[in-house]
Amino acid sequence: MSERPQAPRGTFDVLPEQSALRLTVESAARRTLEAAGYRRIETPAFEDTDVFRRTVGESTDIVQKEMYTFTDGGGRSLTLRPEVTAPIMRAYLEHGMHKLAQPVKLWYLSSCFRYERAQAGRYRQFWQIGAEAIGSDDPAVDAESILLLHALLGELGVRGVRLRLASLGTAASRARYRELLQAHLRAHEDRLSDEVRERIDLNPLRAFDSDHPGTREVMASAPLLLDHLDAEDAEHFAQVQELLRTAEIPFELDPALVRGLDYYTRTVFEFTSDALGAQSGVGGGGRYDGLAEELGGPPTPGMGWAAGVERMLLAAEERPVPEPVCDLYVALAGEAPELRATAFALAAEARRAQVPAQLELAGRSLKGQMKQAGRLGARYVAILGDDGIALKDMESGEQETVASPSAVVAHVLRGRHPG
Ligand code: ATP
Ligand code: MG
Repeated sequence: MSERPQAPRGTFDVLPEQSALRLTVESAARRTLEAAGYRRIETPAFEDTDVFRRTVGESTDIVQKEMYTFTDGGGRSLTLRPEVTAPIMRAYLEHGMHKLAQPVKLWYLSSCFRYERAQAGRYRQFWQIGAEAIGSDDPAVDAESILLLHALLGELGVRGVRLRLASLGTAASRARYRELLQAHLRAHEDRLSDEVRERIDLNPLRAFDSDHPGTREVMASAPLLLDHLDAEDAEHFAQVQELLRTAEIPFELDPALVRGLDYYTRTVFEFTSDALGAQSGVGGGGRYDGLAEELGGPPTPGMGWAAGVERMLLAAEERPVPEPVCDLYVALAGEAPELRATAFALAAEARRAQVPAQLELAGRSLKGQMKQAGRLGARYVAILGDDGIALKDMESGEQETVASPSAVVAHVLRGRHPG
């Protein structure tokens, strides 16, 4: 026998019972975000590779080693989206959304693709829920955006949540700071890990992420970006913090907070959960005032976040998942073809009347059908026989004769539990 194919490494099937749980995440996100004026957007699963190269950044892990990039039949370089912020900004520019009232508030639930080392909480295809507010640099946008993710995590019962916050300033202040940091790293080059030393020119900020003991010592005395912000950026950041305090959202300042994407400016943040192991990040984001220009658009401020659906579920309290409802099971007590046709029509009529109904489809004996109805938790069973329709109330066990399929539906509508 030939080998059976399996889902690719680092991917997973969402089975029916899990899909019910994921639906609770989607509903919570929709409620939380739409109540704040966010509307859903859906972009394609792949984009021109350029969209990510120009925004996420050539020197980032994502672009250097994690993208699923391929050439299509027309010779174009395309990439499965590793993240959704850049595609949304691409869509904002493409559809002239600057003409709408600003900020334009968009949310999404989309799959993302990254070629990563597969492990618990880290997959090669995973889902993100995200929110983007494009078109305003008001610090209230930052605070509200953070507050919404905080609310969503609370609604989902994500345990042990902590919020870390920092500001990266603008590109100009970051460039000045970068030189300071590079000078510090070069002065202590002999104590750094090879990887960090090789990246002093390309991405010195990543040194803050290192686990290497020597590097960590060097970083303990490194200059901090938070101490080198422009006056305007410092004031913007102070206001964001003030609003978060007013909203009573606890946070820690983390001057070493680095996000793995190059497009961030000013506010950056991350929520972690103590309930997760090594992959503790549940969601994060920040301000990306330079992103639109990277995509050839006019200067356009923006702020947003993305949270991992799988990580939120891993970190959330267990919750009961609603069972699928079956109010009517249509059983056959005879073999006649007319009976089968009537049964088929009855199930369809019931569903048209918003009564969840199922039909015998596996040729079971009547006894087997009653058992199956029990397994489904059916409220009523309609038994179609040569001498008419019997309707059995599965709760009381009572059975009565019913005149027509329409009468069955009417009866079930009257008798079922209020939905
Ligand atoms: P990490 O530090 O865990 O690699 P990240 O900084 O790469 O996360 P972002 O790019 O900010 O993460 O994505 C936002 C969220 O998406 C993360 O907080 C996490 O919940 C989720 N996420 C990111 N990568 C993966 C992955 N490979 N598998 C599952 N979820 C992921
Ligand atoms: Mg990552």
